[in-house]
Amino acid sequence: MWSRTIDWDAGDWRDVAACRDTEPDLFFPVGTTGLAVDQIEAAKAVCRRCQAQSACLEFALATNQESGVWGGTAEEERRKVRKAWLARHRPVSA
Ligand code: SF4
Repeated sequence: MWSRTIDWDAGDWRDVAACRDTEPDLFFPVGTTGLAVDQIEAAKAVCRRCQAQSACLEFALATNQESGVWGGTAEEERRKVRKAWLARHRPVSA
């Protein structure tokens, strides 16, 4: 059971998302090779100038978004980051 103090959806981060006016497919490339590599890098470039990057990544980690680019991370990167995230958010036993 995860801590109920996680507030991953606080605020209106989606309102300032840099990807709001971007083609959604850019953030959900098919595969991780070939053209998908360029697509992932292009999506990450949008994320780098996004005011909501931290909140977006927090949301993706908390809700286990396995597909696509979120908060400047691709799928494999996020899997690694999520392990550390889960360890930080594990409830402390009394
Ligand atoms: S960090 Fe990237 S995916 Fe997340 S809201 Fe910003 S632009 Fe969109």
